[in-house]
Amino acid sequence: MQISSNPHAVLFVSPGMGHLIPFLELSRALVDHHNFQATLFVVASDSSVAGSEQILRSPNPEKLRIVSLPPVDLSDVDPSIPVGAKCRISMNKSIPSLRSEIGSIPVRPTVLIVDLFGTEAFSIAEEFNFSKYFFMTTGAWFLAVMLHIPFLDSKARDDHMIRHEPLRLPGCEPIRFEDTCEIFTDPSGVGIAAVEENMSRGMLKSDGILVNSFEDLEPVSLKALRDDSRIFGGSNVVPVLQVGPLVRDVGPTVQENYVLNWLDSQPPKSVVYISFGSGGTLSAQQLKELAFGLELSQQRFVWVVRPPAENVDASYFDVGNKNDKHITPNDYLPDGFMARTKQTGVVVPNWAPQTEILKHPSTGAFISHVGWNSTLESIVNGVPVIAWPFYAEQGMNAAALTEHMEVAVRLRPPSDGVITRDEISKAVRRIMVDDEEGKNIRTRMENLKNNSRKVSSKGGSSYSLLSKFADDCLMNLQKSHGA
Ligand code: UDP
Repeated sequence: MQISSNPHAVLFVSPGMGHLIPFLELSRALVDHHNFQATLFVVASDSSVAGSEQILRSPNPEKLRIVSLPPVDLSDVDPSIPVGAKCRISMNKSIPSLRSEIGSIPVRPTVLIVDLFGTEAFSIAEEFNFSKYFFMTTGAWFLAVMLHIPFLDSKARDDHMIRHEPLRLPGCEPIRFEDTCEIFTDPSGVGIAAVEENMSRGMLKSDGILVNSFEDLEPVSLKALRDDSRIFGGSNVVPVLQVGPLVRDVGPTVQENYVLNWLDSQPPKSVVYISFGSGGTLSAQQLKELAFGLELSQQRFVWVVRPPAENVDASYFDVGNKNDKHITPNDYLPDGFMARTKQTGVVVPNWAPQTEILKHPSTGAFISHVGWNSTLESIVNGVPVIAWPFYAEQGMNAAALTEHMEVAVRLRPPSDGVITRDEISKAVRRIMVDDEEGKNIRTRMENLKNNSRKVSSKGGSSYSLLSKFADDCLMNLQKSHGA
């Protein structure tokens, strides 16, 4: 391999839009502002996601190459295993093709960057002798959990997993059991053992961690990650650099979208946007309650709908690509809902141009599953959130938004699992109708939005930390020139 004078980042991203989008933004930031060459390797299942054809087109193919790895065979994988386990298997099966692609790159890469499901690929960086970095596409609080798992003593585990007490991490806010992620709700410990083995230990082997967060957003967790070595078991601290928010800006090609045209004719901040990310689906009963709740709230809305399913993450791997294209929202929304709300709402099947909608001046609130990208997109556009977490670390994100940042209200499913139309309508009106609470939430969100812009501009903390990462890569490159 030849050695170039500019650093070359090779990125290997897990399936799912929630991973792909921030990886693309990281690649772009490195290329556009920090003089990198980048090659982003995508596992094939991503290309089947609605909207990804456009996203996967590189804006600058000279400097940013996007390569889809050959599809992997998942026919031997039990379809009922959790989404995370499926992602990890796809990634591991893609490693031989990744290795051969990297081996054939004429200019030697400087750094390999992977995410949660890709740490096995660090063996390739070790083989070719370049740096290995981890990119956390969720927040710093959850990063602290993932890093600390191997160092949790059995009492702390049992207090949380068996006695349902809050999980206490060094220097961080405690995590209530009802907000915790699934690995802690399985008392058998099988899930947490798998995460420790397959993720946490891999992350701890990295030379550094980039996290899609920023100082004003998660000051407590970021300080702990920086200053409290107990998170890392007291030694072998891995440097953590907060380089966010890395979020997609509006694309040029959706100008003629009917949702955006409809938004153009609505009053400022008058529309509630509802979307549950790439994976989120509702049960038939919950879908009905949400529809009636929106009607009851008497607010305008744009709602991304999917056919009902009992699994909350049913569409993660194939959103917008199911064989149910003949099914229309009329088939599963309550009778007459579409006709009754024709003037006040728009229903979008499967997938909508989310960043464009959140940026639109008519959008006033976001009912969201609070996946981390949706959370950041809301923040950079100053749109208050109605948090409705489904799975993974979303309960923690909801707690952070409502209690630490105070820019959201929260919906919590009762014991029968269904949030009623009254609760939904009440939450919408708490934000949208101009009372004291809604006003305070909007003001705090506006402040966070302004801070998010400052940290990402030249001289801001996130921009500077990405420059530091670039400098470190350059230094390694110069060392290998000398070698
Ligand atoms: N997204 C979109 N249109 C949709 C739903 C989602 O563009 O209809 C994008 C959204 O803007 C975000 C990503 O898909 O960038 C979803 O990531 P997030 O972390 O919020 O949730 P996940 O899909 O990982 O659960």
